Amino acid sequence: SALARLDRRLTGCRACPRLVEWREEVARTKRAAFADWTYWGRPVPGFGPADARLLIIGLAPAAHGGNRTGRMFTGDRSGDVLYQALYDVGLANRPTSVSADDGLELRGVRITAPVHCAPPANKPTPGERDTCRSWLVQELHLLRPTVRAAVVLGAFGWQAALPAFAEAGWTVPRPRPAFAHGARVALDGLDLFGCFHVSQRNTFTGRLTPEMLREVLRTAAVTAGL
Ligand code: SF4
Repeated sequence: SALARLDRRLTGCRACPRLVEWREEVARTKRAAFADWTYWGRPVPGFGPADARLLIIGLAPAAHGGNRTGRMFTGDRSGDVLYQALYDVGLANRPTSVSADDGLELRGVRITAPVHCAPPANKPTPGERDTCRSWLVQELHLLRPTVRAAVVLGAFGWQAALPAFAEAGWTVPRPRPAFAHGARVALDGLDLFGCFHVSQRNTFTGRLTPEMLREVLRTAAVTAGL
């Protein structure tokens, strides 16, 4: 599919020198617990079917998660929380995501991020966010015929996603709506949902509980016709 071709092109991107250096250094040095892994060490493409009706937009791959396994939210604590919730609401065929060949399938859902390379301290710069936006815009273009809802995890993703939706042809309200957990914004033909990010900082402290996450996913899935 065109989306699979886009994903393949993405994995060769070297547009952000700082992130290229970091993703490759992490892949070389590894974490002791993963010493026997060959790290992916490249841009991590979106995961899920090309005709997805629901899109989940995160922040960026984790150094020892997506940057190790090559799949979004796979092999780290944030992903454990997200995939368990997707499974609980019937959008995934298994509750865990450990490697790119573990048989996990999503039902009508695709997961992507506004920045596709692992950043130091999980903090991309505004310049890196803007550079990577063209990939998200292309992905949105290709998903446009089917996608009807999007869940955006956290304020960084929200700020990156709104201009990307606008560039991809959706009408985005002005002034741009602010991020909040529970925010819901109707674009033409697509509803955007804000949700706290599934980071450990939010899930360990109870700022985002599993039930809060399931609730957003359920509402978004129903909106998307899943
Ligand atoms: Fe390319 Fe995006 Fe990675 Fe930058 S963050 S190198 S634009 S894939």
